[in-house]
Amino acid sequence: MSGSMIQTKDATKTFMISSGFFQGKRPLHAVNGVNLTVSQGEVVALVGESGCGKTTLAKMILGLEPLTSGGIEVNGKPLAGQNHVDVAKILQPIFQDPYSSLNPRKSIGSIITLPLKVQGDPNPDTWRHRAEEMMEMVGLPRRVFQNYPSQLSGGQRQRVAIARALINRPRVVICDEPTSALDVSVQSQILNLLQDLRSELNLTYVIISHNLAVVEHIATKVAVMYLGRIVEEADTETLFTKPQHPYTEALLSSVLTPDPNLGVPDTHLGAAYPNPVEPPSGCTFHPRCARVMDHCSVAMPPTISTLDGQVECHIYDNTNGLTV
Ligand code: SF4
Repeated sequence: MSGSMIQTKDATKTFMISSGFFQGKRPLHAVNGVNLTVSQGEVVALVGESGCGKTTLAKMILGLEPLTSGGIEVNGKPLAGQNHVDVAKILQPIFQDPYSSLNPRKSIGSIITLPLKVQGDPNPDTWRHRAEEMMEMVGLPRRVFQNYPSQLSGGQRQRVAIARALINRPRVVICDEPTSALDVSVQSQILNLLQDLRSELNLTYVIISHNLAVVEHIATKVAVMYLGRIVEEADTETLFTKPQHPYTEALLSSVLTPDPNLGVPDTHLGAAYPNPVEPPSGCTFHPRCARVMDHCSVAMPPTISTLDGQVECHIYDNTNGLTV
């Protein structure tokens, strides 16, 4: 792996939210000072509960959501100021739901070749051949070229979405929950396909997922988000075997110790996810933290570098005499 494909520097997105007739608007820091580097060839997973900011961060990287402050570089160049078509040649998204992300009135062939048209590919007479080549690569029979999305299964539609994303050979693919709308039996096929395409086409992935089994299977690095911040980042093996942050520990234990009586995971997180418009003081995780200390509700923890990433937690302050 080498070279940084994506670098976010204190990337921040604040939405102004109406909080009642007499109270006016209040800030919601959906993404709050995120520093993340995605190197070429990596598969970086963004994980965390709904509302933690992972999808907003992905939209910021794709240029679909303007930053409130901070910056993002794509392939060494600032994203701000680059036009969408140029960015789309490097970055492509694959969305969660293949049912709504494909135009039902367009044929599979015209869906897959659309990026070539939009990005002004100069050789229209090669488009069909390239689309068929791509279809073969993602495991779609050529005979569905003239079909419509409604005539395909969920797994086939996701293969169409993948073919569309890759036809112009982007360098980075942002996958937002790429398998969560699919039947369990199809999920592993799509994951294996993404793995194969990564090595075949030398791709870099950013994967958004709440499914830690998927993350462990496919990611090389994991960034754990909580209330708009990355609270822990590490290579996948380290994160799953030696989690540092209490929130990561709780997320992992929710997978490892499902309560058989309830049929749902026990998250061990106690209090509910906080209202992001009124985040808790100090460490925003403190109302739910099993290892909370007195000063956690007062001071925000610093970002501490670890051997292969970072963690934000007072347990690892130098003053506590612990090392990571
Ligand atoms: Fe828990 Fe304190 Fe660490 Fe926050 S800083 S995760 S409250 S121990």
